[in-house]
Amino acid sequence: MRTALSFLVLLAAACGTPRASYDLVVSNGRVMDPESGLDQVRSIGVIADRIAVISEQPLAGKDTIDASGLIVAPGFIDLHSHSIPGGGQPWQVRDGVTTALELEEGAYPVAEWLTALEGKSLINYGVSAGHIPARIAVIQGARTVAEEGAWREKGEEAQPPAWSHHAATPDQRSQIGKTLEDGLDHGGLGIGFELNEAPGSTREEVLSLFKIAQAKGVPIYAHLRLMGLDPITGSLAGVQEVLSDALVSGASTHFVHLGSSTGTFAKPVVEMIEAARTHGLDVTGEVYPYTAASTGIQTGMFDGDWQSRLGIGFGEIEWPPTGERLTAATFPRYRKQGGAVIIHSMKDEHVDFLVGHPGIIIASDAMPLIDGRGHPRGVGTFARVLGRYVREKNTLPLMEAIRKMTLLPAERVRGAAPRMARKGRIAVGADADLAIFDPATVIDRATFADPQQASAGIPYVVVNGTVVVRKGDLVTGVHPGRAIKRGDQ
Ligand SMILES: [Zn+2]
Repeated sequence: MRTALSFLVLLAAACGTPRASYDLVVSNGRVMDPESGLDQVRSIGVIADRIAVISEQPLAGKDTIDASGLIVAPGFIDLHSHSIPGGGQPWQVRDGVTTALELEEGAYPVAEWLTALEGKSLINYGVSAGHIPARIAVIQGARTVAEEGAWREKGEEAQPPAWSHHAATPDQRSQIGKTLEDGLDHGGLGIGFELNEAPGSTREEVLSLFKIAQAKGVPIYAHLRLMGLDPITGSLAGVQEVLSDALVSGASTHFVHLGSSTGTFAKPVVEMIEAARTHGLDVTGEVYPYTAASTGIQTGMFDGDWQSRLGIGFGEIEWPPTGERLTAATFPRYRKQGGAVIIHSMKDEHVDFLVGHPGIIIASDAMPLIDGRGHPRGVGTFARVLGRYVREKNTLPLMEAIRKMTLLPAERVRGAAPRMARKGRIAVGADADLAIFDPATVIDRATFADPQQASAGIPYVVVNGTVVVRKGDLVTGVHPGRAIKRGDQ
């Protein structure tokens, strides 16, 4: 049906007789599609939520965006956002993001997480079934998303919580598996792991859950168990654990935030990922374009001798509410209190390498801003790649950057949700998700000192055919974002 319609529309366009009027026309933009390689000035006609025509001729529409001098790209797809229910969407959409997915941490119950966003979402959304949320549900007894959030916000590390530090009994392990299967059956797009935040998870438990992902045809989204500089027990060991489980189970596997996870090991890790792909494994990775990381100060990352393990000291850790760098005196006080910290731990050369590397996906790891403070990556990641890495540093070509922010993440999710074949590209029949930006001015403005500054140079964003950002401003009262669920066609 769709193919027939597309053919007719194409035929009409080819004959120079497009429809009299489209719902929305994006006229005279430089259309860049990473799938077909199209890079020409075109006008796009949208009917309802789909691209109906891509034309060399002028088109008429009920609503028109004049994209002269601007790039028209597929809307950016963020595989890694923790700020979806946390007020992040208005920031992310002005960064060109039209789909943001919570795949690393995930959720439980998945159905409840999805339902809460129905009809209220600026951009498309989706979630994985989360290993830690499942552990909290089974071991700690939290049963709702709200209860789970409360557990995690307490900073209850004075007594390490059972969900993170206890090994599951055989019965609990099977319940964790069933909980995750339930999440996948309710639309979860994969299984999300944050292994270093749940050090009690045995190798056996983790491998058994990779097998569930393989059986359900969804990827694993993996934050490593082992990280840091140690040549035996550091990041390489963490990557090898995950690759081993991917091989043994056959599950597709995605490594989250390679910059913060691998540090100085970025190059050997990318070589390992590429070699695994050569040997037939479906393995991918992502990076965010910043040299500072962010995570909870109460997490297992700061257990034991983290200074030598991670190669950083108190002075590399920033407390966002005040902007202060921590000391031996303030660290334990804030750890007891709990909350996200910013960790200035990475080097430019490694982040440049990952951002510039073909095949490594760009994803933000957006965290909610709390009292206006927090890591700027949830506000500026995509404009930062286009402005700083493409235009200023010439780290990678523009089309490659667009591919890493659109087509590649769509393809990562497509196996679980076939409808992603309509996202991440500009083609007749594709979903009308568009990021329209000025290549000469696009830039991130959010900083560590003041993250509440929306990206500049992205004047228009379209989600499912609805204009959500117009002349750089959020359009009020529109919520065109839709859920993306496992099995969606
Ligand atoms: Zn993570």
